[in-house]
Amino acid sequence: MRAVLAIDQGTTGTTCLVIDERGQVRGRAYAELPQHYPAPGLVEHEPEEIWASVLGAGRTALAAAEREAGGAGAGGLDVACIGITNQRETTILWDRATGAPLGRAIVWQDRRTADRCRELRGQGLESFIRNRTGLVLDPYFSGTKVEWLLDHLPGARERAARGELAVGTVDSWLIWRLTGGAVHATDPTNASRTLLYDIDLLDWSDPLLRTFNVPRALLPDVRPSSGAFGVADASLFGKALPITGVAGDQQAALYGQGCWRAGHAKNTYGTGAFLLMHTGADRVASGAGLLTTVACGPRGEPAYALEGSIFIAGAAIQWLRDGLRILDSAPESATLAASIRSNDGVYFVPAFVGLGAPHWDAEARGTIVGLTRGSTRAHIVRAALESMAYGTRDVLEAMVADSDVHLADLAVDGGAAQNDWLMQFQADILDVTIRRPRMVESTALGAAGLAGLAAGIWSEPGEFVAARPEPTVFSPRMRAAERATLVRGWTRAVKAALAWAGEQEQEQENEQENG
Ligand code: ADP
Repeated sequence: MRAVLAIDQGTTGTTCLVIDERGQVRGRAYAELPQHYPAPGLVEHEPEEIWASVLGAGRTALAAAEREAGGAGAGGLDVACIGITNQRETTILWDRATGAPLGRAIVWQDRRTADRCRELRGQGLESFIRNRTGLVLDPYFSGTKVEWLLDHLPGARERAARGELAVGTVDSWLIWRLTGGAVHATDPTNASRTLLYDIDLLDWSDPLLRTFNVPRALLPDVRPSSGAFGVADASLFGKALPITGVAGDQQAALYGQGCWRAGHAKNTYGTGAFLLMHTGADRVASGAGLLTTVACGPRGEPAYALEGSIFIAGAAIQWLRDGLRILDSAPESATLAASIRSNDGVYFVPAFVGLGAPHWDAEARGTIVGLTRGSTRAHIVRAALESMAYGTRDVLEAMVADSDVHLADLAVDGGAAQNDWLMQFQADILDVTIRRPRMVESTALGAAGLAGLAAGIWSEPGEFVAARPEPTVFSPRMRAAERATLVRGWTRAVKAALAWAGEQEQEQENEQENG
């Protein structure tokens, strides 16, 4: 029985899974990753700690799989290749000769290059950048992080000019270390998050490299997400293992959910919600502030997706539990929501940190409307759950409007997707079937699928999907009139949140004018 070692190097830790050709998890391990916050707005990772977490979790997962299989050779579990998926955008600069990092990794959450982004925007470069990359000019992405590392780490500029350095996202860093410095590579999904990669040409862009002052020689080779990325040295995991699949975490999750074609979408309901909708070979530009990004087609070949995020999703439930304390546990929210027959007109817009796509208002704040003397905690809890479904609907509507793609169904994962009441309500509000896989690690599964295809474990992507157990399905059953009424109520509530923010902005402007 052949198997893949899937490495999921995430922001807070590394998960490694050994997944066999039937899609079963045979070994698993998790290693936490220390976070470094040197100053407000700065978030860093130690590259050596990233590497140590991967090596540690990888070895533990393999050992667990071997134990389960009854010792080496017995049980015949043959781990044949490695798939890598990773936190995206996080940027590392290292020495080609020694493999030593020049400093800490700048994590995607880090805001240190906000001024530089404003400066570039001031030069009118936003649409030029958006046209080539599908992204917005924001510190979130790698471009200004690379520039910052080159300008601030001692000697970096000169050494880069001499060809002594390499830069990369976490996937590249891991490939470099796994292959003992033999391969400096990345894949198109990771490259498409750097602001340096032209998503039409599928190559690093010289005009963008000039804009961000990045020498091309520093950058990794971009290879297909499912294909050869070199061989991990035998000293690391007990035998030489080819690395044959690489993708950024959200794109890997999309692939792992079996979303390879136009109209297939997945939503991850975690702290926030991350929505990606595949648009096939068509690159769709968004009019509603969504990102366009490179995703994987059926065989891992480059394709496109629209991406949108909702800042607060499961976090609203967390707030009701830990902040307001009107909930004992997150799962209790389902029982409470089901305890009332209707929302009775109560809506909760959890815009704690502003509203993202498609409304984009940084000043909007959390708003609860429609309260009466009869409202109970069940109404507030239900309204929090409902808000995740409406927010998802708003983003998906924008995606469909942008792309003309018909939404086939919605695959879901993440902590709050375990809530059956929410999933049924989501199916009802979208009038779309929801598929929730039994195996929750779609990210690692995606990396395993990409790697296993290239290594010949599966000959067709369909085989890899067939290997998974049947998902739980939620079918829409709400009447259209009821859906329309509910959505109208939500839209009014969002208007209220926006109006409240707008009036405050107006007041601030007036105050400034009056000195
Ligand atoms: P992240 O990866 O962003 O930390 P997870 O995917 O682990 O998030 O999901 C955790 C989030 O999901 C928390 O915000 C939590 O409040 C929410 N959550 C977990 N279980 C449920 C549930 N049964 N119903 C509603 N929300 C839930």
